[in-house]
Amino acid sequence: MILGVQLSFRTKLLEIVKEAETLGCNTIQFFSHNPRQWRSSFNLEEEEIKKFKFQLRIAKIEPLFIHLPYLINIASPDEKLYQRSIKAFIEAIKEADKLGANFLITHMGSHRKAGERFGLNRIVSALDTILDKTYDSSIVILLENTSGSGSWLGYSFSHHGFILRKVKNKRRLGLCLDTCHAYVAGYDISKEEGLKILFKEIKEEVGIDRLRLVHLNDAKDRCGSLRDRHADIAKGYIGIEGMQAIINHPYLKRIPFILETPKKTDRDDIRNLNMVKSLRYESE
Ligand SMILES: [Zn+2]
Repeated sequence: MILGVQLSFRTKLLEIVKEAETLGCNTIQFFSHNPRQWRSSFNLEEEEIKKFKFQLRIAKIEPLFIHLPYLINIASPDEKLYQRSIKAFIEAIKEADKLGANFLITHMGSHRKAGERFGLNRIVSALDTILDKTYDSSIVILLENTSGSGSWLGYSFSHHGFILRKVKNKRRLGLCLDTCHAYVAGYDISKEEGLKILFKEIKEEVGIDRLRLVHLNDAKDRCGSLRDRHADIAKGYIGIEGMQAIINHPYLKRIPFILETPKKTDRDDIRNLNMVKSLRYESE
């Protein structure tokens, strides 16, 4: 299976590969920025990028996922922040290209009480600009589902559906499914029935072929709580049976899983990675 973790933030590219190898991952995700800052934190020297790409190839780590910082808000009603977000988004795509990444993950943004329809339309026009200005890139943008707290969009797949129906060139758009976010947003995926409802909605609104990544996280809070607190795999409310059904779901057979579970040391990641592997029926 294609399995990796979200690596904690660091500025040295080669440390990322080393860490991924230590953990035994064949895919990884990392922030290109300090998640709370606007500017990229990497020193993108050509020599270092070359080494980075070479070592990824040797370590057979693929695909490569890059997460956008939380500051970027392409649904914002504040014009200054909106324009700044679009600019930073475009720069992030160019940087991801340089690093040889395949996917860029973003939360959909917050409408800040300006209304959902307003926010979704803002996202559509931002994405039209972003996709147009990076037309020669092969980076696929993955819109992650969210927990439904505050004015954040993306807690319902109808939001993804709205965007996909309206964006002019959607070839480079996809979905990242976060299991914790879906659960606390009200999809009871700890049970077979809930998982069925979730996939039915994804099928109708997004299309299964656009689902390119699962953020596999258990939830510290109940279904419908709207609280975004990730738990260790099989130790939260989704639980062991729920996790087992997700990890072995036919739709997710070839989809990469990235863990964003609580971490103090490498041992925490290793424990969660081992738990996922032990719940998978086939061990290839
Ligand atoms: Zn996530």
